Amino acid sequence: IPATGTLIISNRLPVKIERKKSKLKFTASEGGLATGLGSFYKENGSWWIGWPGIIPKNESEEKLIREELKKLNLIPVFLTEAEIKGYYEGFSNAILWPLCHYRPSYVELKQDYWISYTEANRKFAEAAIPFIEENTNVWVHDYQLMLVPNYIREQKESCSIGYFHHIPFPPIELFKMLPWREELLMGLMGSDLIGFHTYENVDNFLDSSSGILNLPTNINQLKINGRKVLVDVFPMGIDYEKYKNQAVTPETRNYATHLKSLYKDQKIILSVDRLDYSKGILQRLTSFEIMLNNHPELIGKIVLYMLIVPSRDQVGQYKKLRNEIDRKVGNINAVHGKPGWQPIAYFYDSLPFDVLSALYSAADVCWITSLYDGMNLVSKEFIASKQDSTGVLVISEFAGASKELSDALIINPYAVQRTSRTLYEAITMPVEEQDERLKSSQEIVSKFTVHHWVNLFMQRLSEVKNAQRDEL
Ligand code: UDP
Repeated sequence: IPATGTLIISNRLPVKIERKKSKLKFTASEGGLATGLGSFYKENGSWWIGWPGIIPKNESEEKLIREELKKLNLIPVFLTEAEIKGYYEGFSNAILWPLCHYRPSYVELKQDYWISYTEANRKFAEAAIPFIEENTNVWVHDYQLMLVPNYIREQKESCSIGYFHHIPFPPIELFKMLPWREELLMGLMGSDLIGFHTYENVDNFLDSSSGILNLPTNINQLKINGRKVLVDVFPMGIDYEKYKNQAVTPETRNYATHLKSLYKDQKIILSVDRLDYSKGILQRLTSFEIMLNNHPELIGKIVLYMLIVPSRDQVGQYKKLRNEIDRKVGNINAVHGKPGWQPIAYFYDSLPFDVLSALYSAADVCWITSLYDGMNLVSKEFIASKQDSTGVLVISEFAGASKELSDALIINPYAVQRTSRTLYEAITMPVEEQDERLKSSQEIVSKFTVHHWVNLFMQRLSEVKNAQRDEL
């Protein structure tokens, strides 16, 4: 049966709305998901539902936003301040995020957050219902919306529902902590297909659903009320061509040359991450300092260019982390720096795409130290941007991307001594070896792009649905 359209549901719509005096400014977001899904949601009869990231001042502004977004095939779900606090900052970011990133001690188990989460998930599902026909393919994204698949299934028995979990899924011992563990898993069971970035996440999820819900499992299939639910691996990629093409534009080349001239005769070790305790930023700084201590000959010859993108920095744990980073960077620079040279160039900023591209291009090493990371796109963007020069990727074994990029140097970021030795290996690696490893990583990243990821997921979703229909 041909599908009549695709419906995407995610917490945030791929659009940024800014209030400029009395006017509203709409900018399409360039995130990976929006790029990958672009060809679907812009089609006739396809829609994307989510929060537009703004609270309307009054009814007429709400109406205006709705109308403007409709032109882009986007449907807004407006969240109240209480919902943003309870559903988004509370349940999503202070319960699910730390739990899925192995930080049970950061989890704030508040019943109010749960209530808000159920209500907001209901709101997203209700907004979606009018757009769903029997043949619609619904694709729900990420941990903020784990209850949506079943809320939709209760009202729309025969549509296809896929769910993708962009962050790690924790081992059952951790997931069991949640007082609402059955409800969350049951929420997902409304799906026909549930996707994760890695096999490890799939295994963890199957352990939880069979162990907590006592569902029969057959390899990677679960059975609920006679309906099959397939659980599978779909490692997300990037828009390879976009990064590749940007890297060779004259502007990016010029800016990369300029950056290199700022750090003349120095190897640039680059790190790029959002401010988050899952990124292993403090462990990275420790390893870097160990390397400086062990290799005084590197003084003046290397720089750690550390870009941290502001994120959630009004939240307690994040504020604390930022203070610790500030202190540690200051300390390392004070102890190891000398006139005219500092070991760490630290920026707390969000950079536009072309500048980021130049940074990737100029860097000799890209260093990812995630303690736990669903995928990590920065690593793939670095690989794709290395068109003019060579470079080495050093990546944590706890980042999903490390499972695909086996030619990178893989580290355990907790093992700070060993990591410092691997970093040294990276900055002293012969060019031929760099080139060989880079080429083989580029082959993978250019093949398994975000477009490939979307197509594969959609194709698998229709296969699952067809198999279910054949059984009836
Ligand atoms: N990024 C950005 N602005 C910056 C630096 C990075 O938009 O100044 C982007 C980067 O290109 C990447 C994303 O932020 O696509 C980070 O994704 P990743 O999967 O590495 O980590 P996440 O933040 O999703 O945990």
